[in-house]
Amino acid sequence: MINSQTVLESKKITVEFSGFKAISNLDFKVTNNKVHFLIGPNGAGKTTLLDVICGKTQVSQGKVVYMEDQNLVKLKDFKIVHIGISRKFQTPSIFQNLTVYENLIIALKQDKGLWATITAKITKNQQKDIEEMLHLTGLIEEKDQQAGALSHGQKQWLEIAMVLLQDPGLVLLDEPIAGMSKVERMKTGEMIREIAKDRTVLIVEHDMDFVKEYADIVTVMHEGQLLCQGSMEEVQNDPRVREVYLGR
Ligand code: ADP
Repeated sequence: MINSQTVLESKKITVEFSGFKAISNLDFKVTNNKVHFLIGPNGAGKTTLLDVICGKTQVSQGKVVYMEDQNLVKLKDFKIVHIGISRKFQTPSIFQNLTVYENLIIALKQDKGLWATITAKITKNQQKDIEEMLHLTGLIEEKDQQAGALSHGQKQWLEIAMVLLQDPGLVLLDEPIAGMSKVERMKTGEMIREIAKDRTVLIVEHDMDFVKEYADIVTVMHEGQLLCQGSMEEVQNDPRVREVYLGR
């Protein structure tokens, strides 16, 4: 991790639900332009950590700092999107009755009403950004198709494109390959690699083969705490991980 810049850092954060500590005193770092995976058994606190980063859940103690000087604690979720952190949830939240292209326009101009958004004029640069996303996600041929008619994988990719149009420096993905075929998984993995060339990606994922293939850095959580962080090889060889996570 030499020469890498810290994009996000949590400092001793604790998250409590009715007295139960879902995250306890967690120090955690994400470095730039890398594919980071967050793994750990069910209940480890992974989703809660993503919720904290995107402003959906508040910490009871500690700080979360983005780009070294922006404390995310107490910021509203839309403010967090504005400063450069966007999240794709597991269930796609696309507009099924609109075309792929219209969905992408909405992603660009989501602060206006829906109809005003679709009919709004977009600049040449915005059009270029949309085209770029259509290429990146392999949806160029489907651009005038109704989003509802897309395959499961394509819907996920459309949402990834929508997230990227918010121009985030840090992209959060929640189990992006759930329910996908083998081919779709590979395509998603290559897409993530491409995205991480000029952005940082943090992914919660259960599929260890996928993590092995595409991770630059893996963070293992257990019972609301950080167990270890490193390359997949380092993590796999850590006896604590074998014991707690892999069960051997
Ligand atoms: P993971 O994503 O690693 O499976 P979660 O972050 O979803 O883990 O959950 C961590 C712990 O916090 C679990 O024990 C879970 O039951 C608990 N938890 C999560 N959200 C809530 C909530 N809103 N209210 C009460 N307990 C919660």
